Amino acid sequence: MIKLSEITKSISPSLTRRLFNLAQNYDNVIDFTLGDPDIHPHDKIKEAGCKAILEGRTRYSPNAGLLELREIISSRYKLQYNIEYNPTNEIMVTVGGMEGLYLTLLAILNRGDEVIIPAPYWINYVQMVCMCSGEPIITAPVSTNDLSISIENIRKAITPKTKAIILNTPSNPSGKIISDDSIQQIAQIAIDNDLIVITDEVYKTLLYDNAHFKSIVTCDKMKERTVVINSLSKEFCMTGWRLGYVAAPSELISAMTMFQENIAACAPLPSQYAAIEALRNSEKYSAGMIEEFTLRRNVLLEEVAKIKTITVDAPQGTFYAMLNIKSTGLKSEEFAYALLEKEQVAVVPGITYGDCCEDFIRIAFTLDIYKIKEGIQRLKRFVESL
Ligand code: PLP
Repeated sequence: MIKLSEITKSISPSLTRRLFNLAQNYDNVIDFTLGDPDIHPHDKIKEAGCKAILEGRTRYSPNAGLLELREIISSRYKLQYNIEYNPTNEIMVTVGGMEGLYLTLLAILNRGDEVIIPAPYWINYVQMVCMCSGEPIITAPVSTNDLSISIENIRKAITPKTKAIILNTPSNPSGKIISDDSIQQIAQIAIDNDLIVITDEVYKTLLYDNAHFKSIVTCDKMKERTVVINSLSKEFCMTGWRLGYVAAPSELISAMTMFQENIAACAPLPSQYAAIEALRNSEKYSAGMIEEFTLRRNVLLEEVAKIKTITVDAPQGTFYAMLNIKSTGLKSEEFAYALLEKEQVAVVPGITYGDCCEDFIRIAFTLDIYKIKEGIQRLKRFVESL
């Protein structure tokens, strides 16, 4: 009998995966669980990856990734944020945004260090902090009706053990963007309390209705304490290519690169070549995606509006929407299992994202508009049958 580590006991499989796995048992299921769009990356991006494979550019790269790719990432930050990142020591390429987050936490946490995670949160943050022997400290949002970040609650959560705070804007699952004012206040809190800010910006290009996004790293004196996490997964619909990148102070990048040498060696090389193509022409390749997701979001909102007992705040970004199911009287997990059983529609129970979300379910609008329509019509039938 194998005795598993203590850390293993601190984490458990997510409800997102549980619902996704269960959904596979049903025919004709409409699966709104995973943030994994059905859209393909642009052909030119795929060609760049295939060309690398055919030409045998398939070996290890430097641990921090190809310098050419890091240079492109650096010039992107200069253009978008007016911040200089040295591509040789302040940027690294990772195996998706997830590995970027994990390497960051591995490199900064000592046992028992606290990391503030504002709810609603992506569950992986909590699990990864535990995997790195830290203590996740969850802070509640403004209220269960307003899932915006609460500065007040963040302030109250700070202790001498607080090491870092994780921000995610636009947010998975709420689709909310943190306002400029809140960003500014969090920056001041971080400076006053000597905290590291990990800003997860993997959805920052998926914005609707000309929504405005501000990165905390652009605030005064924040570059030296901010870790910017990004990825090609969502921006270019390249989830399986496993390509992310991190911009951070050089001492952190150097520690993370050392961990990378021992964990994965490097991100997959053909994906790095595909990323060079994607990031070089990013606007051209992501514009069509934003149009498509806008259409999907609008169809979703129109269909949900037809259900009298369910409400939804229009997401400002991402491809997720949180539907408020409070008036059905069902707990989010109960609701999700019954909906799958009765109507073969798979959604994620809100409780996955924190106690504040017990009255919600999350829908990922990563399917085409016909499936979205059909799925929400089934949801309507289900709610009306209760
Ligand atoms: N951050 C958030 C909030 C996410 O939702 C995801 C994926 O779902 C990621 C990071 C990481 O994605 P990837 O590792 O595919 O880049």
